[in-house]
Amino acid sequence: MVHQMIPPGSILGILGGGQLGRMTALAAANLGYRAHIFAPEKDSPASNVAWRFTCADYNDQQALEAFAANVDSITVEFENVPEAALTLLAELKPARPNSRALATAQDRLVEKKYLESVGFKAAPFQAVDGPEDISKALEVFGSPIILKTRRFGYDGKGQVKITSSSDVKAAWAELGQSPSIAEGFVNFTREISVITARDIMGKIKSYPAVENRHENHILRQTIAPAAELGKLAEEAEYLASQAIKGLDMVGLLAIEMFVTDDHQLIVNEMAPRPHNSGHWTMDFAATCQFEQLVRCAMGLPLGSTQILRPAEMTNILGDEVNEWPKLLADPNVHLHLYGKAEARTGRKMGHWNKAQ
Ligand code: AMP
Repeated sequence: MVHQMIPPGSILGILGGGQLGRMTALAAANLGYRAHIFAPEKDSPASNVAWRFTCADYNDQQALEAFAANVDSITVEFENVPEAALTLLAELKPARPNSRALATAQDRLVEKKYLESVGFKAAPFQAVDGPEDISKALEVFGSPIILKTRRFGYDGKGQVKITSSSDVKAAWAELGQSPSIAEGFVNFTREISVITARDIMGKIKSYPAVENRHENHILRQTIAPAAELGKLAEEAEYLASQAIKGLDMVGLLAIEMFVTDDHQLIVNEMAPRPHNSGHWTMDFAATCQFEQLVRCAMGLPLGSTQILRPAEMTNILGDEVNEWPKLLADPNVHLHLYGKAEARTGRKMGHWNKAQ
């Protein structure tokens, strides 16, 4: 198969209008491309910096076809784009990542099974289709367990911890009786992630594993690289490369993992797109994750994933964004704001990077 580089001046189509799309569009511009955003929201962080914007529903076939006709390659910044939309687009233009990667990441049950199949260890899990499955999981895995909806969960939404059989009915109702998975609770000491990239030639490069610190289920800080992982760093990178290869996808795959008390790696979840834990690469890696995605989508060779300097990334949540003058008073802070008008509690408004 002949692989073609899509030359500068061409158009990258991005499904999704969030900050990940915004930073991908900016990286595309740096390489001389134009970005065309497709998103249902009228005003979005990505559409504000893009060359063109289609405001339409992901199920609008006519709008999808017109979008495909207007772009040279397509990527996603949001993994809950309906699989059917990407499948339709992939018949018309290169879709990177492919719809298989998207479908795998959209369903926690399919995702966990896939990650185990490439060699990751996962917490014990089982499908839940009713309260009796939850009771069974509690009996088999022991208390506590975590119940998570198979679809549309993020930042701790769509999940609930269950400690006793008296919680079962309420938990099932809280998740709206949606198909779910029950997972055994992992006693972890740290959470880490690896972002790996695969180009159209099948070449794979990973960024070093980083440590992620959460507050109220939302990522607060990433430390790059994660300290003292020893052999686990290599294991995480190797397994991530197996996961991206197995999906035959071109693009970025982020994988979140736990490190347990006894120094084992337990996989949590994956995302076939740029990831919040990779934002440090914008200022402290040889190639930032957004440029890496643009390179993948446009058929260019991968850039170096080398870390230039140990760094920290901190998310700016809600009205913390009003503290921008204070952040800028430190000349070593690299500030990245997403241009969101409304600072709702817990909403990701921006982030800052700083050398450690
Ligand atoms: P998730 O939405 O799967 O990323 O989960 C959000 C957060 O909940 C994770 O970052 C962990 O801090 C915690 N968590 C998720 N699954 C488990 C588990 N099986 N055991 C312990 N903590 C978990």
